[in-house]
Amino acid sequence: MDIAKSISEGLARKVLAAAVNGEVWDASRPINDDASLKLLTWDDTDGKSTFWHSSAHLMAEAVQDAFPGAKFWVGPAIDKGFYYDIDLGDTKMTEEDLIKLEKKMGELSKKNNLYVRKEMPKAEAVRYFTEKGDEYKLDLLSNLKDGEITFYTQGDFTDLCRGPHIPNTGFIKAIKLTSIAGAYWKGDEKNKQLTRIYGVSFPNQKELEEYVLMLEEAKKRDHRKLGKELGIFTMDDDVGPGLPLWLPNGTIIIEELEKLAKETEKAAGYKRVVTPHIAKESMYLTSGHLPYYADSMFPPMEMDGTKYYMKAMNCPHHHKIFDAEQKSYKDLPFRLAEYGTCYRYEQSGELFGLMRVRCLHMNDAHIYCTKEQFASEFKAVNEMYRKYFKIFGIDKYVMRLSLHDPEKLGQKYINEPELWIETEELVRNVLIETKVPFVEVKGEGAFYGPKIDVQIWSAIGREFTLATNQVDFAQGRSFKLSFTNQHNEPEVPLIIHRAPLGTHERFIGFLLEHYAGKFPTWLAPLQVKILPISDKFSDYANTILETLKKADIRAEIDDRHEKIGKKIRDTEIAKVPYMLVVGEKEMNEGRVSVRRQGKGDAGSKGLDEFVNDILEEINERRAEKVEEVEKV
Ligand SMILES: [Zn+2]
Ligand SMILES: [Zn+2]
Repeated sequence: MDIAKSISEGLARKVLAAAVNGEVWDASRPINDDASLKLLTWDDTDGKSTFWHSSAHLMAEAVQDAFPGAKFWVGPAIDKGFYYDIDLGDTKMTEEDLIKLEKKMGELSKKNNLYVRKEMPKAEAVRYFTEKGDEYKLDLLSNLKDGEITFYTQGDFTDLCRGPHIPNTGFIKAIKLTSIAGAYWKGDEKNKQLTRIYGVSFPNQKELEEYVLMLEEAKKRDHRKLGKELGIFTMDDDVGPGLPLWLPNGTIIIEELEKLAKETEKAAGYKRVVTPHIAKESMYLTSGHLPYYADSMFPPMEMDGTKYYMKAMNCPHHHKIFDAEQKSYKDLPFRLAEYGTCYRYEQSGELFGLMRVRCLHMNDAHIYCTKEQFASEFKAVNEMYRKYFKIFGIDKYVMRLSLHDPEKLGQKYINEPELWIETEELVRNVLIETKVPFVEVKGEGAFYGPKIDVQIWSAIGREFTLATNQVDFAQGRSFKLSFTNQHNEPEVPLIIHRAPLGTHERFIGFLLEHYAGKFPTWLAPLQVKILPISDKFSDYANTILETLKKADIRAEIDDRHEKIGKKIRDTEIAKVPYMLVVGEKEMNEGRVSVRRQGKGDAGSKGLDEFVNDILEEINERRAEKVEEVEKV
């Protein structure tokens, strides 16, 4: 904070925390040695998360005041905001309580109370919480060592926390407690259910208002609500949680997406393959999925004395296909693609519509290449991502390059320090060269290589992690894959894992929100609705339908005995891109009156002209500019 002040008072008013040698600290913590320093503000991810975590403390202070005897578990910052898990004993919290708590937090923030850090010996900390009768904090303490225990106090609230926090509560100027939920202690259904309060906070009122607007819009665009209204998918108790059933309309979208992927991959030199949904335990031991990822796989089934697992990843199967025939450098790069079905065990509490499921269809592919080919292959993959983003009108995206942590080599990361540095450098160079916006995060790489998560924003500014792109220098060796190089020696290929369209589940969930259900014509389950003004014109309506069907356009007739106004309204609600109104004049002249969803009358056209125009739009996969709402 002193350094910030020495630069300018204006800057000091904005500084929330500081990254000292890459570690986030309180801005008030003394720096005793030379260090690299970055002052963090609201514009930094770490600044925001410090702000939100500090808001969780402020909320806990308000809860402690309103619910004496409340016990606190953990209160982390999340993607957007924060929560705190609280044991309220027998008390049930209501929505009205949230409003009271918000008000109280507002009062407390105005006191500008400092977040005061205090180191404490373990014995003293244990005594403090034993006297308080707080089994939760005692549980947290049991995993901490003497010398790493810190307490933070702001106003009347003291918490066991390693920090960091913002300088004082006065920074938190706008608060919204968004919801209450039940959460099992430590996420285990056998444990007691705690009350989780979610909230979000901002340094000014304007950002809060924008956020609330976005939330309202997101509610209207909720993929579960739209998915039901538009007949995209359904869930059935007998099928099981997290196992969506794709309805006919959803399946049309799936098939259009696959068509796009197949065309794109074919042009980029990929070969398609098909692999079984299960495999023997031994293969997953080779790949390293077992035992490390056993928790996220379905339990094995036993057959003929051998354990089989449902596949959680397509990679091992593809490696076996690479290995099926001897390869030389002339066969590389070797690119295998499959819309692969995978099964993952997600905890029931984590399941969420199409976003978190147990059965997923992945736009998967693996590229086997030499070190020399890596940069151009990786670049081509990035270009494919960008091509897709353009088609879907995704104009805000960022790639998150997750790197290894040298201290965890041999545990969390395969012990190949030089290969890590080398491949990370290759990836970084491509990202810089192709001018893709990206950020680097240390310690989040996959265990076999650096990982690139692709974050995208929907039209209403909500963030989604869409797809992952991974570099892998370990599985080639685990699977003993090799090709004969130019010197006639065996060499292990590098592997790129990529899935630009992610999974059908998450991508269609995203698209529902992004388009608010108004799919561009090429993706729309129903593209044209023919609306005869009365029965008199049903023959002509049928002629039109036949013409459209022949041209492979998805069309239907609304032959209900309803007024034309009602037919138009219903078709609007069903979000069908085109309506063709036909009556006396249209029939006599062999024309159609065109209406565009959301836009109204688009004039009269000859039937052939309409067919040509719509086919052009479909074939180009053209999209109207995605409706923009105020972006947050
Ligand atoms: Zn804290
Ligand atoms: Zn893979």
